[in-house]
Amino acid sequence: MQPDTDNAYEALIQFLYRAPIGLVQIRLDGTIEMLNPMSASLLIPLAKDGNLENLFYVLATVAPLLCSMATHFAAPTGVICESLRVDLGAIAAIESGPQFLSISLLKLDANRLMAVLGDATFEMQREQETLARRLNSAARTDALTQMPNRRAVQEQIGFMMARPNAAAHGEFAVLFMNFDRFRQINDTLGNAAGDQLLTEMAERMRAALRPPSNHTALASSPSQMAARIGGDEFVVVLDGMRRPGGVESVARRLLEAIGKPYRISGHEISCKVSMGIVLGAEASGDADAVLRDASIAMAQAKRDGGGRYTLFEASMRELAARRGDIECDLRRALQENQLFVLYQPVVGLLKEGRIDHSVGVEALVRWQHPIHGVVSPLEFIQIAEECGLIGAVGDFVLSKACSDFVQWQSELGAIAPRLLAVNLSRAQLAQPGWIDTVIKILQSSGMHAQHLQLEVTESLAAQDQQVQARLHELKALGIKLALDDFGTGYSSLASLHLLPVDTVKIDRSFVSQGDTSHHHRILIEATVKVARSLGMDTVAEGIETQAQAAVVRQLKCDKGQGYLFSKPLAAAALVQWLTATQETIC
Ligand code: C2E
Ligand code: MG
Ligand code: MG
Repeated sequence: MQPDTDNAYEALIQFLYRAPIGLVQIRLDGTIEMLNPMSASLLIPLAKDGNLENLFYVLATVAPLLCSMATHFAAPTGVICESLRVDLGAIAAIESGPQFLSISLLKLDANRLMAVLGDATFEMQREQETLARRLNSAARTDALTQMPNRRAVQEQIGFMMARPNAAAHGEFAVLFMNFDRFRQINDTLGNAAGDQLLTEMAERMRAALRPPSNHTALASSPSQMAARIGGDEFVVVLDGMRRPGGVESVARRLLEAIGKPYRISGHEISCKVSMGIVLGAEASGDADAVLRDASIAMAQAKRDGGGRYTLFEASMRELAARRGDIECDLRRALQENQLFVLYQPVVGLLKEGRIDHSVGVEALVRWQHPIHGVVSPLEFIQIAEECGLIGAVGDFVLSKACSDFVQWQSELGAIAPRLLAVNLSRAQLAQPGWIDTVIKILQSSGMHAQHLQLEVTESLAAQDQQVQARLHELKALGIKLALDDFGTGYSSLASLHLLPVDTVKIDRSFVSQGDTSHHHRILIEATVKVARSLGMDTVAEGIETQAQAAVVRQLKCDKGQGYLFSKPLAAAALVQWLTATQETIC
C-alpha cells in the first residue's frame, strides 16, 4: 500500500473508531471480530458478565430473531435489517442507559456482517410525544368542522374562571349558538346536507371572527375560540374584551354572517341562529355551569323569535327550572289524561241585527295539574314544542275536538256549530307524516274536512317554502286555514295575499281598543277590506264589551269571539249555551 493510501485508511479506521454510532463487525454466526467504543458502551449493559464475544447472544433477549434473519439472508451482500427498534425498558440493569436501541445489520460478504447500533431513546420519545399530542388534539377537535370541541371549550372556560384576577373576569364572554330549525333540515334534506350546512356555518363563523387584514400583529387583540360542542351547538369564547359593547358587536357580526341564506344540494336554506351570552362578570360555578347558563339564555332568544342574542341574567335560571318541571309533569299529564279541551263559541256578526251562535267553536286545550290546578296553554304549549311533546298534545286536541264536533252535529242538528277551529303549532307542521295523522283522525272521527279550520300564526305561515307546501297540502284536503292573532307579529297587509288562508283573525289587542282608539279602528277597517278583497273572511278576537262588538260589526267584520258572547266552555256547557242562546237578538 502507498503511504498516502495508508494514511487515508488509518484516518478512516480512526473515524469509525470514534464515530458516535456503534459499529460491530461480526462473523455469520455472530462472533464479534471488531467493535468500536460506542458499540461497546451500548452493548455492555446487555451482556451477561460483561461478555462481548457473540453479538447474537448479547442481543438474544431483546432481539431474538436477529440470528435467524442473518442465517436466512441468501444474497451475497446487502441490508438484512434497517433501524430495527428494540425496547430495552424491561432490562433492569439499564435503568439509566438507553431505553431504545436501533439496530441495522448489513452483509458485507460471504463471511462477515456489520451491525450498526444507535441509541434511539430520544427519537422514540419524540415520536411518542408527537403521537400523544396528535391523540390529545384529536380528543379536543370536532371531526366534522375541525373546530375545538366541548372538551376544549370546558378547559378554556375553566382556565378563565380560575384566574385570580377579578378584573380579568369582566373581560371574557361565552357565546352559545344554536340553529333554529336544524333538525328539520336534517330530516328533510338528509344528514349529508346537514353536515355540509354545519361545515359552512363553521367557516362563516371563523371568517366573522378573523381580524381585518389591516390589523397589525402589534395591536393587542382579544383572543377568540370558536368551537362546535355538539349537533348544531356552537360556542365562541372571547377573552380580553376591554372595549364596552365589544362582546355585543362580535355577537351581531356572528349572527349576521351565519344568518345569511345557504345553498345546499340545490336548495336555498335560510337558517336563523339564536345566541345566549354569559358575560364574565355574570359567570359562576364551573365550566359546565357557565355553558348551561349560556344555553338557558339561548333558549330565551329562541322563544323571543330566534335570530337574535340574549344576555344571561341570574333570574333566568329559576324560570328554566320551572320549565323543566313543567316538561316532566307534562309527560305524565299525557299518560294520565290530565289534558282536556274547552270550546269558545265563534259567532256571526252580520246577520241583520242578529247574532248567529252556531257559526263555530274554537278548541282550546287546558291541563288539570294535580298540584297547580288548571294550567293555561300559554304556559305549556311552547314547552311542549321545545321538548317534542307538541305532536302528542296536538293529536289529542284534534281527535277529541273532532269527535265532540261530530257528536254535536248528530245530537243538535241545525243548532250545532258549523265549523271547528283547532290551533296548530309550528312543530306540528314540521313533523314528517303529520298530514297522514290528520287524515286518520278525520276518518276515525267521521269529521268532514270542510268543517275543520286549522289556525296558524302569521310568523309560522310566512315561514318558508316547506311550511307553505304543508299548508297547501292541508288545503288540498278541503281543510280551511285561519291566520291567528293578526296584528301581533310582523303583520303586513301587503303580504296577506301570499298566504294560503281563508280567514284572518284580528288580534284582541286591536279589538280591545277599537272603540277608544281611532288608530286601531283604522287598522281593523283596513284589515277587513284587504281580507275581503282577497276573498277571506275576518274574525274579531277577544270582544269583551258591547261597544267593541258594535265597532267591529260596523267595520264589517264577519265573525266575533270573546267573553262578551262566552268564555271557553266544557263540551256539556257548550251544548247548554247553544240551546239557550239560539237566535238571540243583539
Ligand atoms: P288563540 O288561538 O288566539 O285563542 C284565543 C285566546 O284568547 C284563548 O286563550 C281565549 O281564552 C282567549 N280569549 C278569548 N276571548 C277573550 C276575551 O274576550 N278576553 C280575553 N282576555 N281573552 C279572550 P287561551 O285559551 O288561554 O289560549 C291561548 C293561546 O294558546 C291560544 O290563542 C292559542 O294560540 C294557544 N292554544 C290554545 N289551545 C291550543 C292548542 O290546542 N294547540 C296549540 N298549538 N295552541 C293552543
Ligand atoms: Mg286560535
Ligand atoms: Mg288568537
